[in-house]
Amino acid sequence: MHKNHKEQRAEKAVTNQDVLIKALAYNGQVRAYMCQTTKLVRRLCRRHETWPNASVALGRVLSAGVMMAGMLKEEQHQLALEFRGDGPIGRIVVDARADGSVRGYVGEPQVGHPNGEPGTIDVGATIGKEGFLHVLRDTGEDEAYRGTVPLINGEVGSDITYYFLQSEQTPSSVGVGVLLGEDGSILSAGGFILQLMPGAEEAVIDKLEAQIERMDSVVKQIEAGVPLATIMHALLGETYHIVEERPLSFRCTCSLRRVERALLSLGAEELRAIADEQGQAEIACDFCREPYHFDRQALQALASQLEESFHS
Ligand SMILES: [Zn+2]
Repeated sequence: MHKNHKEQRAEKAVTNQDVLIKALAYNGQVRAYMCQTTKLVRRLCRRHETWPNASVALGRVLSAGVMMAGMLKEEQHQLALEFRGDGPIGRIVVDARADGSVRGYVGEPQVGHPNGEPGTIDVGATIGKEGFLHVLRDTGEDEAYRGTVPLINGEVGSDITYYFLQSEQTPSSVGVGVLLGEDGSILSAGGFILQLMPGAEEAVIDKLEAQIERMDSVVKQIEAGVPLATIMHALLGETYHIVEERPLSFRCTCSLRRVERALLSLGAEELRAIADEQGQAEIACDFCREPYHFDRQALQALASQLEESFHS
């Protein structure tokens, strides 16, 4: 059967798993991360019913998040990125773990044009050029690490680059992208982070800059079916070796128990009022849109729970 170009492309994308690879190059002077996140971004954007501007913005933050989580040492360590700019999308939140699992959401998924206008997606304007990037790193110690930097331009890549320089004193080059089809569909997503280790030679820096300049964008190469290791090779030359390859997956940690806790925070009086007036409540998880349903009885039981603990 004859298949058109688009169908062939869709099939190819399905066989390519989302993955993160970490590499070292130039005798350890350079640390490199590269990810393919096409399926994850498609899945997340479908759940949140994003319009193209939001798809690209969320996709870029998600790719940055999985790579930054890949820098953590233990599997259960996690990282949260929050972009909070003055643009119409409001906020973008991505939670990623070192084990490759990730989730995320945007404040306003329907920004810009419903089908996007090809070539006119302006991520900086969607996120906003004024605002902050918050980074939270939880490695299971008493105090989680929190870092905040002002946004550079809301394009994500430059903002993350600035964060590394400012908060971690690590010179980096960050490229994250989402490639859209003419109909606003997501063709590919991914990116890279290159970091210079202390004492990196000028010659190495010059070489990398030239390579980045010369290279076709990572998302274009992913879309063309080029494996990440091949893209990495083109970027880093013969000197690199892959230290780890990790599959990426969507995972939300929400549960009925957590949603109940959020409801309990409303207080007994408010819960009784909802039970009486609306007879039920439905709460969707911000991250995965999974709905949690509470009938009148369940709401009253939660209210009683609060009243009992109050009186005891
Ligand atoms: Zn959830």
